[in-house]
Amino acid sequence: MADRISRRGLLGTAVAGAVSAPLLGRASIPSAPKKPKNIILMVSDGMMPSVPVMANQYSELVLGKKSVWAQLKRADDAVHGLMDPRILEGFVPDSAAAASSWGSGTHILNGYVNAFPDGTFLTPICRLFRQAGMKTGLVTTASATHATPAGFAAYTISRRGEEEIAVCYLNEEVDVVMGGGSKFFDASARSDKRDVSGDFAKKGYAVARSTKALKAAKGRVLGLFAENQTPYEVDRVNTPALEEQMPSLREMSVEALRLLKGSKEGFFLMIEGARVDHAAHNNDAAAIVGDQLAFESAVEAVLEFARNNGETLVVVTSDHGCGGPTLNYQLFPGKDTGLYLLPKSTMSFEVLLPLLKDITNPDDYIAKVTEHTGVTLTAEQAKFVIRNRDEKILDGVTQYSYQYAGLGMVMSRHWNVGWTGTSHNGDYTWISAVGPGKEQFEGIVLNRTFFEKFLAFKGLKFVNPSISVEEAYRQREAAKTSAWMVGEEMVGL
Ligand SMILES: [Zn+2]
Repeated sequence: MADRISRRGLLGTAVAGAVSAPLLGRASIPSAPKKPKNIILMVSDGMMPSVPVMANQYSELVLGKKSVWAQLKRADDAVHGLMDPRILEGFVPDSAAAASSWGSGTHILNGYVNAFPDGTFLTPICRLFRQAGMKTGLVTTASATHATPAGFAAYTISRRGEEEIAVCYLNEEVDVVMGGGSKFFDASARSDKRDVSGDFAKKGYAVARSTKALKAAKGRVLGLFAENQTPYEVDRVNTPALEEQMPSLREMSVEALRLLKGSKEGFFLMIEGARVDHAAHNNDAAAIVGDQLAFESAVEAVLEFARNNGETLVVVTSDHGCGGPTLNYQLFPGKDTGLYLLPKSTMSFEVLLPLLKDITNPDDYIAKVTEHTGVTLTAEQAKFVIRNRDEKILDGVTQYSYQYAGLGMVMSRHWNVGWTGTSHNGDYTWISAVGPGKEQFEGIVLNRTFFEKFLAFKGLKFVNPSISVEEAYRQREAAKTSAWMVGEEMVGL
């Protein structure tokens, strides 16, 4: 159980000059932790430690101020730790297994949502909180039914079962659900033609499809603002129609707080900046900085609420790292290089790539990239991307595995942001916490212990079943479920 070492223990060790013994023990904090009424978990999906560092560097260089994260790291009322993101079968999770570890306290296989391969479902934390009289909310920039929010209220043998996850939310009566993914709720798009959004309305939910409708909604709310994922921030703010129709993560967060704050027994709210991870898979520096700063803007609003409220714990972290972005080089006077160039991008790779896909002439390719990013590729760089755009192993030697990586790789020569790959990685992630109970998140914290900590704050205890990796593999082999994850690299998840 020595998964957490207090800051006091580490400092004591350093001063005394001792090396190993104190680190093995669990130094205790004398005063009992205070308990919050409300719990807010904020997740920047795929935010490895370098991401908020780089976003702050951008903020300092271009916006002339320290980022919200950089301010939080220096705040007197915040504590900090690192999260160990491992799951049942290894050090590198996908978002489904990672969120399930938070949402059920059990380590499972990648690809499953609170489930063992034999169909055993675990009890998600939102149900336990609802049964205790609390309100619950899930807010994301992915589809509302994406793996991370699903991990707190749903259970299915494959994260790809987003239609099932929508029904889980309905049955679990999550009070506030916001994000994209309308196609998993609407009869016109669902494979079974079931009108799940209509079923929410029948249960008394307001179903909001725009910022205006969201701001007017009362009581329980299902907010669906896009058919799939919501747009990257760089696309949202550069497309007036999108900005009007699609609330920012900060706006969704503020509305969620408005809807949940009156709860007598308190509330649990999970807020996810989901597309930091997607930008990392795509090796898209402009998109990752934009979405990270949009997430931090939501953090700012939530911290303001929590600091005024005084009964609210806010935990800010990530489920895993992704892509390995790092600023490789940047001179302060270098106004025409590196991070200084990012504001010239008016679209994400997700929007740009389709515009480039049929261009075979390098000069035309260069012109189109320049038009939308302000970056002028060299002829060799354009040829490299054109040559490799359908390849998973670039020029036969580079072990990247995603169509976007070629563009990301050549753009890195201009933006000075390098990448280690296009998939998830095993880096520990930052944790910052503010409010009653924050002390529980100092040191190195194993992901699945969030579940018991959150429950304990509300005087609850619940232990889900656990499973060995051997048994899980045996079950998976027997059930032939979720084989999609075997041998597949974690790209676009
Ligand atoms: Zn991912």
